[in-house]
Amino acid sequence: MIEMNRINHQFAIGKKGKERVIPVLHDIDMQVKQGEIVAIVGRSGSGKSTLLNLMSGYIRPTSGEIRVAGQAVTSLSEGEWANFRLAHLGFMFQSFQLIPSMTAFENAELPLVLKGIGLAQRKKKVMEMLEQVGVAEYAGHYPGELSGGQQQRVSVARSLILNPPIVLADEPTGSLDSDNESQLLSMIQHLNQDRGTTFVLITHDEQVASIAHRTITLKDGRLLNAYATGGTLVYETH
Ligand code: ADP
Ligand code: MG
Repeated sequence: MIEMNRINHQFAIGKKGKERVIPVLHDIDMQVKQGEIVAIVGRSGSGKSTLLNLMSGYIRPTSGEIRVAGQAVTSLSEGEWANFRLAHLGFMFQSFQLIPSMTAFENAELPLVLKGIGLAQRKKKVMEMLEQVGVAEYAGHYPGELSGGQQQRVSVARSLILNPPIVLADEPTGSLDSDNESQLLSMIQHLNQDRGTTFVLITHDEQVASIAHRTITLKDGRLLNAYATGGTLVYETH
């Protein structure tokens, strides 16, 4: 479902002509199969978010090739990437990234609007989705009127509303209390079992890692297992 071949990434910072190059990812080779839940773990600064942003096309690798759902995405234009995302990817974030001037309903509805789906069908889908994540009664509320757990549910509704085959999540439970965390994790497991949704979850939380089929560890921008084996990738399984 996701394949990274020889991915290197560096950021350039500073003024033009005086740039400093920060190498962040080194020779990343990895695959995520359809229906897998993969956890990516590693210290802060090890490159986890950068790796996920490469999978979502928000940044382009300095070198190497990425395939998502069979498509070589490294060569897509920005416009093609936008359509590709709508068709294939859902996102979950630690900071829920809701739009404060829009109600819960309107936030969850956004992907449907972007896809050009008609009003009647949007209404039905959004209410079903809000129902499913347990915040239907707050449809007309603004994010500022909702608790953190409720905001995350709205955010999850938005990320799942187009039924994406792949969900990329950067510390999705990072600002949730343990009840809300358990509920989100069990929702992820159900989606994975019922629909075969593939998940890539960045986390430093053991409870999150415990629902993963497989854990990939990053250290200083390298896959730790690649370190141990001198470059030949051996997945840790459990
Ligand atoms: P993690 O998610 O594991 O904490 P990140 O992928 O966010 O790690 O960051 C890895 C390294 O890349 C860090 O040293 C960070 O400072 C650097 N970095 C991340 N994004 C940028 C950016 N846009 N510009 C410059 N450096 C960045
Ligand atoms: Mg991060």
